[in-house]
Amino acid sequence: MTALGDIGGARSLYVELVAYGAGDVFNRHIFACAMTIAAGEPDRALTEALGLDGRRLADLCALHFPYGRALLPAFDLEAGTGEDAIEEPDLRQLLLEHRTRGVIEEEWLAAIVARRSLRPNHLWQDLGLFNRTDLSRLLDRHFEPLARRNIQDMKWKKFFYRELCRRDGVLVCKAPVCDVCSDYHHCFSDEEGEPLARLQPVPLRA
Ligand code: SF4
Repeated sequence: MTALGDIGGARSLYVELVAYGAGDVFNRHIFACAMTIAAGEPDRALTEALGLDGRRLADLCALHFPYGRALLPAFDLEAGTGEDAIEEPDLRQLLLEHRTRGVIEEEWLAAIVARRSLRPNHLWQDLGLFNRTDLSRLLDRHFEPLARRNIQDMKWKKFFYRELCRRDGVLVCKAPVCDVCSDYHHCFSDEEGEPLARLQPVPLRA
């Protein structure tokens, strides 16, 4: 275990996942972040918190975290993701239609981003990332044609849902241009905050 892995005697799940992970460094970082915050939600299974079923989660571990299954809360290969929220399949689909590289990681990320978008904080926080820049980099890298459309740098969650509404022909905006809109601060105010998951300890197994 690395010294960085210690938090007051507890082990940092993120640090251990990254330290003993494999493959692309940035992808390893973002998946470790998501797994870390999801593992910290005691009220639901890891597969439900991530939106990845047991087999896909096992595949992710096999590719990036060969020791991950020993560190993460136990999950069954047959475990499902729980019920989708109404908007979740559409957001997954939107992301997949704009994937950049065609790699399997983008399928996992589309599912994770759609599921974590249902949480109440800034999306970067609910993905367990360190800052908003991580999220922008993730989207630029893996869903670039979609990310490129956010030319005004809207909050990412707002941007996704506005894209979905536009696609369905739903009028969501209160004004023809953002500059005069009373909702401006809802769509554009900064997404500052503290990261939520970086120091999540490794879950204790019974
Ligand atoms: S600020 Fe107003 S006009 Fe601009 S995207 Fe938001 S709701 Fe639509």
